[in-house]
This record gives sequence, C-alpha cells and structure tokens, in this order.
Amino acid sequence: MTESGNRPVVDGDEILDGILRWVGIESPTHDSAAVNRMVDHVEGELARLGAALERTPGRDGYGDILSGRSPWGGDGPGILFLAHLDTVHPMGSLADINPIRRDGDKVHGPGIYDMKAGGYLGYYAYQHLVREGRQSRLPITFLFIPEEEIGSPTSRARIEAEAKRNKYVLVAEPARDGGKIVTGRKGVARFDLEITGQSAHSGSRPQDGRSAVREMAHQILAIEAMTDFAAGVTTNVGFVEGGTTVNVVPHRARAEIDMRVPTPELGEEMCRRMLNLKPVDPDVEVRVTGGMNRPPFVKDAGITALFEHAHGLAAEIGFELADTYTGGGSDGNFTAALGVPTLDGLGADGAGAHADWEYITYSSLEERAALMIRLFETLE
Ligand SMILES: [Zn+2]
Repeated sequence: MTESGNRPVVDGDEILDGILRWVGIESPTHDSAAVNRMVDHVEGELARLGAALERTPGRDGYGDILSGRSPWGGDGPGILFLAHLDTVHPMGSLADINPIRRDGDKVHGPGIYDMKAGGYLGYYAYQHLVREGRQSRLPITFLFIPEEEIGSPTSRARIEAEAKRNKYVLVAEPARDGGKIVTGRKGVARFDLEITGQSAHSGSRPQDGRSAVREMAHQILAIEAMTDFAAGVTTNVGFVEGGTTVNVVPHRARAEIDMRVPTPELGEEMCRRMLNLKPVDPDVEVRVTGGMNRPPFVKDAGITALFEHAHGLAAEIGFELADTYTGGGSDGNFTAALGVPTLDGLGADGAGAHADWEYITYSSLEERAALMIRLFETLE
C-alpha cells in the first residue's frame, strides 16, 4: 500500500507488538491493582504522545478511569474514543488457560479480542497522526474504563458526561462475524428475585412449611415465558439458589435475571412486568428489584450517517465495511441512548469473547487501524 491521503500506511507487526504488550498485563475487573497496572501502561503511552491526561481514582474496589485529550482541536465538541481496560479473565489465564500464541492468522490471549486489541488500535491511530505531524479537525478524547465487564457502575456517569461534550463516539469493542461493526445493541436489564416462605420439618410438620423453592419453580417458568424472539425480548434466569438442607422445607430462594430489549418502550413495559411478578402461593412473598442497566442502542439517523461515512472511508482503504446488530451490551449503549452518533465494534476481528480460547485475526489489524486513522482525520 502506498501512502496517500486516504490510504494510511500502517504496520501490522508493529500493531500486534503493541497489542501483545497490553495483553501481557492481565487486568480482571475485580482486581483493581491489576487493572491499575494496565492503566499505568496506557497512561505512559499516551503521555509520550503529548495527550493531556486525567486519572480519576477508582471507587468501590474498581480501577481508575483514565482520560486523555489531544492538544489540538480546541475546547469544543470532538471525537470521544471509548475502550475498557478490564477483562473477564482471572489472573493466571495468561500462563495457563489462554497463553499468548499465534496460530496462522489467529492470535490468542486473554482479553485480546474483548478488547485490548481495540483499545490499542485507537491509541495506534492517534500515534500515527502524531508521527506524521497531522492533526484531526476535531479534538480527540480517550476514555479508558476500568469495569465495563460488570456494567460500568462507577464510570457510567463519566461516560455520559464525556459523550455529551462530544459530537461523535467511537467504541473499539470487538468486530463481529468477519469484521462487521456494530450500529445497534439491545438494552440490558438486571433483576434480583427474592422469595420468602416458611421453614418447617420436612418429615414431621411439612404442612406448616411454605416452600420458597417451589415458588421459585413457578416464577422461573413465568419469567422465561416472557421471552419473545419475534419481538427481540429475551429473559434468562441465570443464577438460582435456595433452601438450607434436604430435610427442611425451604424458606428462602433467590435468583438473578438478565433481560434484553430492542427499544426503550419495550424496556419500560418489560421492566414493569418483571417488577410486578406476583406469588402463585399467597402465603409466600415475592420481591423483585432492579431495572434497566444499559439502555437500548438504536440505529437512528445520526448513526446511519456516521456509518455511511465510515463505509466510504473503508472503500477508499480497500475493504467492504458492513454493520450489524447485537444482543450484547457495551458502553456504547450509554452514549447512543443520549443521541450522540456512536459507532461500536471498531476493534479487531476475531472470536471467542469471554471464552478461554479468545483470539483476534492478524489480517484484520491493518485495515482496522487505517479506518480508525481516517475516522479521526475526517470527522468534522
Ligand atoms: Zn468488551
């Protein structure tokens, strides 16, 4: 590839080396010291490139939030680049479960696909501009999140505040199905279900008992029956516990529920139904708490226009860019729901997010980096 204005020359081996340095620092969400070692590394890299950095100490046991802003582009609204530095993989995964290794086009490592490669691609694109002595028209703000994998409880407000200060949001979560980027995501709701009955001796006085576990069985079937694939609504009772021991009528049971919805309207309706669950056994108490965690990310006119722009840039670079819709949530849900045009899934292609065999494809790196550079350069 020869360098011309619309086909940046990038080096796949250099990109991979940088990604592997990030993957080499394990950063499971619940280990804030580990996440902060990752933050240290990214902070050092961005500092070398002259970005104005701000590091916000973590709270509630999570790592720090790191932001960095280009020295050019002024104080006005610009481009927000969003990535998370945490992974779902426990410490030691690098040594045992999914060590860094290359097998043809596949490069393995814990968190490489979700989403250290994507975060690094944004950094690399910025480095490219600095090295070439070029600037984007709009200021670029990086925001690195420490706890996306558990729903960004300590960084959501910051993500939303930064999104409102920007014109566009680029999220470098993994690409899908052969390089598709993401222009829509279902909304995610989470609920806790607690059931309280009455304990009793299962042999001598079972008639005095009110089984919370039996009630749970009714509730599980009612909740799972709310799934409506045609409407795009799914419910999953993903965790259940109850009872104390085998010869006691169980007085308590608890479940955690995940729900996905395609639109805000369906989100409201389904949350209302979930929060209004009634016991089948009138002597048992059913209590549901929770609600929407990430609002739906709907492909509106602004997102459609931003995608068309990216599609044109990809064609200039030499590849066909398609988009897709997914049931998985990300921090892009927060920014898209505010009406700020958001493109997601701009990270590397690959497979196995959250799995112990996750990998990226080496062949996707150059074109994704070139696309990120061109998005930075051309958005105005
Ligand atoms: Zn992710």
